[in-house]
Amino acid sequence: MAYMISCECINCSACEYECPVRAIAPGPSQFTIDAGVCVECDGYFPLPRCVYACPVNACAPARESYLVKMRSLASRGAAPLRLTPVQTQTSP
Ligand code: SF4
Ligand code: SF4
Repeated sequence: MAYMISCECINCSACEYECPVRAIAPGPSQFTIDAGVCVECDGYFPLPRCVYACPVNACAPARESYLVKMRSLASRGAAPLRLTPVQTQTSP
């Protein structure tokens, strides 16, 4: 499972050069993580560097439900929801 960047991103670019595999790049409206490149920093650092670097806690383990919702909103031109992965997690 890769990491993702939520809509909390403020485009500060702090994470971009911290990533050991260069999986992070600017997107149309915010920075994004290429899930096919991200290795979760496994073997590089004990804590993902993007998580360490981000000042607004926008980097988190990817959740498909969040990404589907964001793509759906964007396709309809809606403003992004201000949800963070931590706020939307539910107990089992
Ligand atoms: S978890 Fe590590 S490899 Fe994945 S995007 Fe963040 S810094 Fe890059
Ligand atoms: S460090 Fe956080 S706020 Fe800055 S560009 Fe990366 S995800 Fe966005």
